[in-house]
Amino acid sequence: LFEIKNLKKSFGNHLVLKDISFNVEKEEIISIIGSSGSGKSTLLRCLNLLEDPTDGEIIYQGNNILDPNFDLNHYRAKVGMVFQSFNLFNNLTVLNNCIVPQETVLKRDHELAKTTAIQNLESVGMEQFLEAKPSQLSGGQKQRVAIARAVSMDPDVLLFDEPTSALDPEMVDDVLNAMKKLTEIGLTMIIVSHEMQFVRDISNEILFMDEGVILEHGNPHEIFENPKEARTQDFLKRYL
Ligand code: ATP
Ligand code: MG
Repeated sequence: LFEIKNLKKSFGNHLVLKDISFNVEKEEIISIIGSSGSGKSTLLRCLNLLEDPTDGEIIYQGNNILDPNFDLNHYRAKVGMVFQSFNLFNNLTVLNNCIVPQETVLKRDHELAKTTAIQNLESVGMEQFLEAKPSQLSGGQKQRVAIARAVSMDPDVLLFDEPTSALDPEMVDDVLNAMKKLTEIGLTMIIVSHEMQFVRDISNEILFMDEGVILEHGNPHEIFENPKEARTQDFLKRYL
């Protein structure tokens, strides 16, 4: 689905992503783990072009999206993102948060947008809150709305940057369960998370990032049972 080749990103003369290469297959669940400052958020932000990569290629449907004449609007619409901080439209109801982006970006007609929104809000357990405003919701509920909104855009891949790290502990599982459900509809996901049990359960592939490189990657068994690198072992010891 995507091929990331020799991706680099620097801020001034600080090289934050050093030489990142990996492939994303359709329906794959990739998790990115690593210490604070290792470049996880920067990598996600480069993938959805919130940051401009300094060098390298992102091949999507056979084209390098970093070519100057590539149509980025189509690409942006196909790469969804769920942030730590929800980013809902506070003046819109839950239902309209999920409808309006479909109408404006995808030009979907209202009825289809509404049916799609309701279906996805049901699947994250938020169907009782269609007419609520975000300010009336808990953090876990807001995050589930943000997930339903992202899924309603029919993305090719959904990126998650620490979707549960701003939540009270009792709400974390609701959001993780909503994410697990997305695997049943065959969504492709790239997840940055410190919830190691979840990462272990849900991932096909885990990337361990350290100082701007993918130091080690493998399936959950390889990473959790047999980490090869000392830095991976140290990191996991702190979380398990
Ligand atoms: P965390 O687990 O704390 O979220 P992270 O792995 O997501 O960390 P990044 O946020 O990607 O790490 O940051 C990687 C490095 O890039 C850090 O040294 C950070 O200071 C630097 N950095 C990130 N964004 C910018 C920016 N906009 N300008 C300058 N430096 C930045
Ligand atoms: Mg981060």
